[in-house]
Amino acid sequence: MNTSNEFSPDQKQYLLGFFAGVSQRLTPFVGQTASGLITGDPSAAVTGNQAATHVHGVAIEDLCKEERIKSEQHGLDIWEKMLDNAARDKFPEGGDVFRYKFHGLFYVSPAQESLMLRCRIPGCILRDHQLEGLAEIAEDWGGGYAHVTTRGNIQIREIMPRDSVDVLVKLRELGLTAQGSGADNVRNITASPTSGFDPDEVFDVLPLARAMHHYILNNRDLYDLPRKFNIAFDNGGSVSVCADTNDIGFYAVRVGERHPEAEPGVYFRAQLCGITGHKQFAQDCGLLLKPAECVAVAAAMLRVFIENGDRTNRKKARLKYLVDDWGTEKFLEETDRKLAFPLRRLDLEKCDPRRPVRRHGYIGVYPQKHDGLNYVGVTVPVGHMTAGQMKGLARLARRHGRGEVRLTVWQNLIIPHVPDEQLEHLKQGLRELGFDYTHDPIANGLVACTGNAGCKYAATATKAQAIALGEYLRERVQLDQPINIHLTGCPHSCAQHYIGDIGLLGTKVKVGEETVEGYHIVLGGGVDNEQGIAREVFPSVPFTDVPTLLERILSTYLKQRQPAESFIA
Ligand code: SF4
Repeated sequence: MNTSNEFSPDQKQYLLGFFAGVSQRLTPFVGQTASGLITGDPSAAVTGNQAATHVHGVAIEDLCKEERIKSEQHGLDIWEKMLDNAARDKFPEGGDVFRYKFHGLFYVSPAQESLMLRCRIPGCILRDHQLEGLAEIAEDWGGGYAHVTTRGNIQIREIMPRDSVDVLVKLRELGLTAQGSGADNVRNITASPTSGFDPDEVFDVLPLARAMHHYILNNRDLYDLPRKFNIAFDNGGSVSVCADTNDIGFYAVRVGERHPEAEPGVYFRAQLCGITGHKQFAQDCGLLLKPAECVAVAAAMLRVFIENGDRTNRKKARLKYLVDDWGTEKFLEETDRKLAFPLRRLDLEKCDPRRPVRRHGYIGVYPQKHDGLNYVGVTVPVGHMTAGQMKGLARLARRHGRGEVRLTVWQNLIIPHVPDEQLEHLKQGLRELGFDYTHDPIANGLVACTGNAGCKYAATATKAQAIALGEYLRERVQLDQPINIHLTGCPHSCAQHYIGDIGLLGTKVKVGEETVEGYHIVLGGGVDNEQGIAREVFPSVPFTDVPTLLERILSTYLKQRQPAESFIA
């Protein structure tokens, strides 16, 4: 595509047509349905309506900055501006910086004078051709690399405005999208990365994650949230998706004969308001849902949040604050009003308990529930992959599996459906690409956000320091159990430092006259059956002192622990 000049009328027509689905103005609707399960009249959003004096009942002058930007023009309606900016190789300005995030494009100046693309990978599953296509995007228009994120997603950096439209078109042609991956939208829908082949799973949640993803894409009113929103589906199996860190976490559970009120079968518990940056895990809200009800209930909850969430104060705009204010009971009553079926509230104690997850329990080779097939978990250090490695992984998945790759919220990946006789070939191929698939108590659980190499909020070089730290500890500490170390560059907590056994929160530290990069060190976090919010133990440690300090902490733990005492205990 020629981007050195303005787009021709024909090109423009094509591109606007291409994105017509998202550029349509909102039309009011009544009786919107999700599998016929939703009824009523979801509130007609008014963002993007310049004549409006109020947004969701709040006077324009009382709105916070981001709400005002949305009220002036909806983020999904800036296609012409994006085309013009691409034609002029121009970065977005003013409110458009925020609106670009509706399309998954983040202008990350001054950390990098370029755009970052955050995709949506529903259910954290990629096909081989999609991974290859993403590698081509990274190679042709990005910095030649990509990162796996803590939502089992892919980010590609160093994209120039002139290439932004080509990038989004190519993404669509791969069957992917970035729509709503940033700003006040529902983020990538995650699912247990072993869904469909985990011998221990209660229910294959991949179809639910995909249904949720497509339902959101096709309902424009769901692009009008007060703040970002996370949804995860947990299959009840042995590998975690950290669903309890989400605004809504659905957990598959079995209900047996011993439950007096529910028919035996598979249900979902719904947990609400996980936001670990605010030190809170999602909590059961008492619902027991049939699988086919989950998407409808999530959509109803989203609409209650849209209508009633705080539009004046960003710090109080997440779902947690609405539920804190109302109480769970009122939130569920309002949700119930939007559904064509009654919410089922039953004694959750009588459900079969969720089986414990295995820490790092997917790195290595594991048998699937299908005879003769295996899945192979691969460590991707801090989620960083070159375009060449991505193409190589796609090739290996095609040659030795069924062309499928799963991404994990621990920034690693899984190649499933590998026949027994192909395992050694796959392992050889992984080694040649520079990937490790063996258990390593430290490397398997090392998680890092972007850091100051690409994020303007970061106080520290998280990814590079995580690698250095991991190498230092691996050489000096012989751990006999997996440990999670999370490095996050600022309090936004993208790497969720509060759920790490060891969490590092980036900060600047004064050392004499100098200001250097350092970390507040928190200890004792965990998720799922080891749930815990880590507590700050060592504030403001210069990074140069962090490796030796962690070595001492881990060595002391190894010497002094009681039998079967885990690090989190
Ligand atoms: Fe940037 Fe902060 Fe998120 Fe790290 S945690 S990626 S520094 S916003």
